[in-house]
Amino acid sequence: MKQLRGFKYRFYPTSAQRLELAQTFGCTRFVYNWALALRTNSYYQDQVSLSYTDTSNALTKLKKDPEKPWLKQVSSVPLQQGLRHLNTAFKNFFAGRNKYPRFKKKNNRQSAHYAPNAFKWEDGKLTLAKMSQPLKIRWSRYFTSEPKSVTISKDPSNRYFVSFLVEEELEQWNSSTEEIGIDLGIKDVVVASNGFASGNPKHYQKYQARLKTLQRRLARKKKGSNNQYKARLSVAKLHAKIADCRLDFLHKLSTKLVSENQAIYTETLAVKNMMANHKLAKAIADCGWGEFLRQLEYKAKWHDRKIGAINRWFPSSKRCYTCGHVLDKLPLEIRKWTCPSCNSHNLRDQNAALNILAIGRSLGGFPHTRPNQEAVGQTVFACGSSSGGDVSLTDLAILG
Ligand SMILES: [Zn+2]
Repeated sequence: MKQLRGFKYRFYPTSAQRLELAQTFGCTRFVYNWALALRTNSYYQDQVSLSYTDTSNALTKLKKDPEKPWLKQVSSVPLQQGLRHLNTAFKNFFAGRNKYPRFKKKNNRQSAHYAPNAFKWEDGKLTLAKMSQPLKIRWSRYFTSEPKSVTISKDPSNRYFVSFLVEEELEQWNSSTEEIGIDLGIKDVVVASNGFASGNPKHYQKYQARLKTLQRRLARKKKGSNNQYKARLSVAKLHAKIADCRLDFLHKLSTKLVSENQAIYTETLAVKNMMANHKLAKAIADCGWGEFLRQLEYKAKWHDRKIGAINRWFPSSKRCYTCGHVLDKLPLEIRKWTCPSCNSHNLRDQNAALNILAIGRSLGGFPHTRPNQEAVGQTVFACGSSSGGDVSLTDLAILG
């Protein structure tokens, strides 16, 4: 089966390339923000909705502005691509999938998107438009097909990445006969019906004290000074380290679960709602449930596995898996309980996972549909409470 996949690598630009990229990022950001303002003003002032083509035509005019000669110094492709991204952002907004597009900031992640007419791919070497030398890429794995597009990015800790979009023949994992239910939580990110518990490395919590120190230092620096820049960089580096560790953990976990099981059942989750609680937001963000589910889903799709999401209001924790007795209450600090009806000893999370598996199976092969890439911003995987309807967010904090 052919699949579109992203292959991301770190690269090390020469000083000339660094300069060229800084210009490209700057112009791309400028054009994006300019077009965003243009479209916003057009709605408010003229009650007219501008299309991608309108902004593209306006860009052609803007480039003739004698006060903006620098717009012509960079490849025009990333600028056009930026307008396309903005158009998608507006589409998502009007479809109710996302918030209103926001201005891009200099200190956030910078990126530029290159279509095939703006890069050269020869003998495994990538040369971008307006550059004389190929990029020095640290290859960690290989792909064989021609890249369909290339995205260059720089993260806030000043690391450069290149991401190739490639259509590749995918080697599928052997099918499995196993099915599991999984319960997402904070003590363990995943507890499965077969007893597997993933643990939770809590990368953010681990570095929280260090991060606070660095942020305090940053706050004391003079605005715009070189010292402020350095302090901001060390904060960004630590953030990047935490994110990398978390992603690595989640990839290992999702790969394990998808490769070992033919079907995985989980609950729908209301991550956005839960994140609204500030006490919990950090602990939940540290789990990376949203990213984990995203990985489960695409890996399942690649390897022909089934992911089923069950309604989060089903009392999965409070129901005894053995006899079906449903408790009135089950406070979150209670990790195991004995069923008053059948006397079986239930481990809270595994019991919930077993119930999720049972419901998932009973509902059969219902497809878990997730809208396409454009809709990613939506809370499809809203996260639920493994303890049924009555879990309060403050309760969850106890698990932290
Ligand atoms: Zn029971």
